[in-house]
Amino acid sequence: MENRKLVIGNMKMNMMAEDISNYLKDLQGIKLSERVVICPSSIYIPYFLKQSYSVGAQNIFFRDSGPYTGEVSASQLASMGVHYALVGHSERRGYFRESDQDINKKIVSALKYGLEVVLCVGETLEEKNLLKTARVLKRQLLNDLRNLEGNDWDHVIIAYEPVWSIGTNVLPAKKDIEDTIGYIKGIVSEYFNYDDIPVLYGGSVSERNIEDLNQIPNVSGFLVGGASTNPKSFLKIIEVAVK
Ligand code: PEP
Repeated sequence: MENRKLVIGNMKMNMMAEDISNYLKDLQGIKLSERVVICPSSIYIPYFLKQSYSVGAQNIFFRDSGPYTGEVSASQLASMGVHYALVGHSERRGYFRESDQDINKKIVSALKYGLEVVLCVGETLEEKNLLKTARVLKRQLLNDLRNLEGNDWDHVIIAYEPVWSIGTNVLPAKKDIEDTIGYIKGIVSEYFNYDDIPVLYGGSVSERNIEDLNQIPNVSGFLVGGASTNPKSFLKIIEVAVK
């Protein structure tokens, strides 16, 4: 992976069809768009495919095809020209009860079809208060990243997203983010023998805090939720982070 930071927008279940064309127009000015990924709701993916930035899915199912009503597979997404997939987002782990085993199967499937995987990991507030952050992250990483082989590792990015920071405007101290990213890199290096896995930070990233967050020495980029639906904020984040 190149050294330039990566900025990924997770639009979640936001925006109506009539808002899309203005949003696309507003984002036309993105510079260095090869380091920008946008993950819209899956029904809107076709609108985003012809732009200069990459497109990601917010979720995938781990089977290739078959009787799985409402699901979308990695193979289908790849056949559309989607290049990235978020896997294990805390909203999927929480609301949809996705287990580490499900997440691992999704990662294996995404890699099989050539998608770049963005694995989201992070502790809840309760886990943080019980001083379980390191244990939770280790459990997620060791279980979610099983059975990877060969050059699979070159197509995996981790997003450290403390659950208590998502959509709350409450952020960890910069030093804590740096230390936790160091810990994640250390786990991947020790247990999977892969050095220097890219780790993004996600959680309440905005145009107000991006200059500050961008100074964290070991961060490889940012996963942006709410602010990615506001073109002005998102463009500012990209301008600062992707230099
Ligand atoms: C996210 O959902 O991945 C996220 C980081 O959200 P927000 O930026 O809104 O906190």
